[in-house]
Amino acid sequence: MAHHAYDDGNVFARILRGEIPCEKAGETEHSLAFHDIRPQAPVHVLVIPKGPYVTAEHFYGTATDAEIVDFSRLVARLCVEFGVAGQGYRLITNAGHDGVQEVPHYHLHILGGRVLGRMLPAAE
Ligand code: AMP
Repeated sequence: MAHHAYDDGNVFARILRGEIPCEKAGETEHSLAFHDIRPQAPVHVLVIPKGPYVTAEHFYGTATDAEIVDFSRLVARLCVEFGVAGQGYRLITNAGHDGVQEVPHYHLHILGGRVLGRMLPAAE
């Protein structure tokens, strides 16, 4: 498995420690959700595990079953609560260099509230 060195100075670690504020959208035992500071759609919520996971395969490969279930159920609940479950939505996770991940704490974007266009721009 890839090596995942967690940098606890990242902005989402600081949010989890209460050092900087967030606009909370939901919270469970193992997960936190908050609104993206630069929303790209009417609904743009970020869901993060409270544990120190860097990428999707780090989280899904090494987190406990309880953490993964907790996270997944929160995502489902937020899709309903923020009203996008009916019209549709997109879940995005960026990872690493090629995925252009900005914040090295695993997170899932929930995007919706408008037609989101094609999944990716045409290849350069
Ligand atoms: P990425 O790592 O590429 O998936 O993107 C990180 C996302 O985190 C971007 O959409 C940012 O707008 C968002 N973001 C960065 N800092 C904050 C913050 N303090 N509060 C909420 N969202 C943030």
